Amino acid sequence: MNTLPPSIEQLIREFNKLPGIGSKTSERFVFHLLRQQKEEFDSLIRTLQNVRDSIRLCVECYTFSEAERCAICRNTQRDRRLLCVVAEAKDVMALEKTGQFNGVYHVLGGVIDHTVGVDPEQLRIAELLQRVERNGITEIIIATNPDAEGDITALYMTKRLAGKPITVTRIARGLPMGADIDFADEVTLANALQGRQKI
Ligand SMILES: [Zn+2]
Repeated sequence: MNTLPPSIEQLIREFNKLPGIGSKTSERFVFHLLRQQKEEFDSLIRTLQNVRDSIRLCVECYTFSEAERCAICRNTQRDRRLLCVVAEAKDVMALEKTGQFNGVYHVLGGVIDHTVGVDPEQLRIAELLQRVERNGITEIIIATNPDAEGDITALYMTKRLAGKPITVTRIARGLPMGADIDFADEVTLANALQGRQKI
């Protein structure tokens, strides 16, 4: 029989919805929080509210940002001719950690996956083509995961970009098939970026 107060039960269920968080870890989080001072608890609540209220998508590359344009797009030192296409905003973070890329990004918002009904129209491919037309881009590096969906998405984009005066490359070398970009270590990812190949 469960004797926990319903509000605690509810909080455990909320944490349990997070990826990789099982019910035991979720319970640990909650009991840890309950031991904290009120200020610590308030700080967490304020931080959550802050993220909810202030984070939006950068109007240029669609990564998370507090301003209209993200810090990468606002940085005048970055090479705007070099555009790295990734599936998710978390992949931008992974690539930034390598410190090896000085271009800008484009977040597709997923990959083509017919098994779960994701078609190219649901991704930001039209926006990518518009950027290519507008911005004097000379190279597009496709950095989707090296798995079936990542490959299909890369192939689709390559077809859509065919005939345009740009080099299209794909990072791959060093990344095992089926690997997840945001789980790859920084050295492997940096090598994959440097060893990108023309497609
Ligand atoms: Zn941006």
